[in-house]
Amino acid sequence: MKETSIRKKLEEILYKHIPSQELSDDEKYLYLISIIACSFAMSMQLLLWVFYLFAGISPLVNIYFSGLLFLVLLVWLVLKHRYQLFGLLLSGIVIIETLVSAVFIGTNNFVIVYLFVALMMQMIIPYTSVRIRTFVVILLGISMYILVIINHNMIPTWNLGEANTTLAFFNINIAFFGTIIQLTVGNFIRDVIVKANRKKLEESKNEANTDPLTGLFNRRYANAFFKQLSINKVEQDWCVSMMDIDDFKVLNDTYGHKVGDEVLIFISDFIRKNLRKRDLVFRWGGEEFLILLKDVEVPIAFRILDKLRSRLELENIETHDKILNVTVTIGVCSLDIQHVEQSIDTSDQLMYKGKALGKNMVVM
Ligand code: GH3
Ligand code: MG
Ligand code: MG
Repeated sequence: MKETSIRKKLEEILYKHIPSQELSDDEKYLYLISIIACSFAMSMQLLLWVFYLFAGISPLVNIYFSGLLFLVLLVWLVLKHRYQLFGLLLSGIVIIETLVSAVFIGTNNFVIVYLFVALMMQMIIPYTSVRIRTFVVILLGISMYILVIINHNMIPTWNLGEANTTLAFFNINIAFFGTIIQLTVGNFIRDVIVKANRKKLEESKNEANTDPLTGLFNRRYANAFFKQLSINKVEQDWCVSMMDIDDFKVLNDTYGHKVGDEVLIFISDFIRKNLRKRDLVFRWGGEEFLILLKDVEVPIAFRILDKLRSRLELENIETHDKILNVTVTIGVCSLDIQHVEQSIDTSDQLMYKGKALGKNMVVM
């Protein structure tokens, strides 16, 4: 119970920090994990600074204080989404502080663990290309080797005495928690982002994004959806299809606009019920619907839609006192998320081809 409430609190904090601007999930992840890395580094920096202050090691007091100021700059870089510079500088600070403190107070306080924490950071925080991070890993390896050389060839300028044990204990704990945090926080952040996205989707289902007559998503939401899709740049297979009711004008003219509206509501519900949860339906125009089918290739989409079409054809639509039968014509093609408008145009043209070929059919 207690654990879940702490988790909830942490989730809330992270949730509040998700930038409001449009970013892909990967960028949101990088942003949050960098903020956490900065906070962790700052707390450690502060604790070590206090420690050296009490131990009276003035060069280290100065260096760790400068480091603290430098970390403020790093937070600013993260807020500005300058991740590469942030990651490189953070790794640089760790290397410099570790080597300098080894010169002043020696290496038997396990100062090397900071290099391991930085090493882990290269694997967990994708702040730059794999190539550059590999290069930093090599630098960290060289730094470890230099530590060994310092250990063998130099006598520390300061003797910490008893305090050395405290520092060693502190360093080992930091490394332990640093590792645990880095290993668990990634999944935690992913969870928070998924939940935030879900919440945003729920919110977007409000009136501004839905069509009042049918309750389907409207064009406005379609535009927002396509924008997010192109930002995310994730490999995704979608098919797009345009569906238009056949001879709807005749139906309107014969039975009246009100009956026409009822038929529109019926068909909207029918489409929704007959598609999978992950597919999306938009009311595109008066009696036109844009349907997005997720993770399918065109031939499969064709089969799904043709089944929908043939079922609808057999459906007896009950309105006030009449039973009506309505058919639809559908055009379907694959969706190119970088050229959405073109894909929609193609599906529209295919739909018109179906109209010309005699209506009540799916064309791919
Ligand atoms: P086809 O598509 O088969 O070529 O013929 P159609 O008669 O459906 O063609 P068209 O697209 O020209 O007609 C669309 C009609 O849909 C015109 C309009 O009366 C009707 N319509 C559009 N929006 C609504 C609406 O919200 N309610 C009702 N009742 N009718 C609508
Ligand atoms: Mg039409
Ligand atoms: Mg029509």
